[in-house]
Amino acid sequence: MALKTAARISTISYDIRGPLAALADELEGQGRDIIRLHLGDPAEHGVAAPAAVLDAVRRDLDASCGYAHSQGIPQARDAVTAYYQDRGIDAIDPDDVTLGNGVSELVQVALHSLLDPGDQVLLPAPGYPLWAAAVTLAGGTPVHYRCDEEADWSPDLADLRARTGPRTVALVVNSPHNPTGAVWPAPVLHAMVEHARAHELTLLSDEIYAHILYDASHTILAGLAPDLACLTFGGLSKTHRMPGFRVGWMLLTGPRRHTAEYARALHLIASLRLCPNVPAQHAIVPALRDIERTERELTGPGGVLRERHRSAWRALRGLPDVGCVRPRGAFYLFPRLPPGRRDEPFAHELLCTQGVLVAPGSGLHHPKGDHIRLTSLAEPARFAEAVTRIGRQLDSPSGSPTTRSSRR
Ligand code: PLP
Repeated sequence: MALKTAARISTISYDIRGPLAALADELEGQGRDIIRLHLGDPAEHGVAAPAAVLDAVRRDLDASCGYAHSQGIPQARDAVTAYYQDRGIDAIDPDDVTLGNGVSELVQVALHSLLDPGDQVLLPAPGYPLWAAAVTLAGGTPVHYRCDEEADWSPDLADLRARTGPRTVALVVNSPHNPTGAVWPAPVLHAMVEHARAHELTLLSDEIYAHILYDASHTILAGLAPDLACLTFGGLSKTHRMPGFRVGWMLLTGPRRHTAEYARALHLIASLRLCPNVPAQHAIVPALRDIERTERELTGPGGVLRERHRSAWRALRGLPDVGCVRPRGAFYLFPRLPPGRRDEPFAHELLCTQGVLVAPGSGLHHPKGDHIRLTSLAEPARFAEAVTRIGRQLDSPSGSPTTRSSRR
């Protein structure tokens, strides 16, 4: 008898690790040279984690064998609390912080504690697909609001308002934004907070790229909304280049009389996994202690991410008929393909014919189907080679017999 699968699975997707990535693995297994630009994993592109942070984890390994507090080890929660207090979020204490196996796990903990069947959550489109999948798995309904390419991918506030209804319970904000790299301007964030206030929405702010900025500044959303329930998500996967450690945090802010019951639910759900991975939590104290320096080293003058971002941007701009809004944060580029090209068949052809793996925008909830996401993390010569191959693919007619026959 076939093993039963939950019906809701057919309503979720995470294409970044879907069939295209599997095909790339298969082609590599056959000896093909594949340039992998589909993931935001610094380690994959040789951008190493800070040595001092790794040393701290090694040093504390022997003391990491037991279960820890289900919200995470106290010293790491103290460090996260101090990090936000130093940035003006002062009415908090370590009990407001929950650590997890990456933001990915914490988003699910937060949503499972929040949603009832039919509750709607507003999410950016395009957007990182974890959020919509997690809303659905928690029984809610994702409702996407438009981010406007013409406005440097800022949220379209009129669209956001139009999509808010009686069942809307939460608003997801993600700045710097995956996949566009947009840093949403402070007035836009203020307007989003105002909207949440007017409709009594919980704010869910994914700030995992808060320290990866190119001549832009980051606004911590919770600082604009001390009177609203807000969950802020951060972690060490990006700025500290250690996604394999699976370490992240979530901060709950807002008036305690409004958040106390939810906090109890959050702690209950967090306790079901007993605790997050303990060795990785020891990375948090040294990582946050040096975060300003880390940010400067990565994105200041001569910094590795700044240089890679700049050369990737320059290389991409050399492609005729490909438009791209210049990203101000994170490490992605989200170019628009020339007229007539569709993202999914193009990405498939590009992989099969040229050996370049990218993420089609459709898998990132971009409804137009004419964008692809590339990471700018790749070493510049490798990225330039990928752009040459993309140019070659754009020069060939779409759906050519070679690519059709290799399609699975
Ligand atoms: N949120 C966004 C916007 C991301 O881009 C990613 C990873 O790419 C995550 C969350 C996942 O972070 P973590 O590695 O902490 O689970």
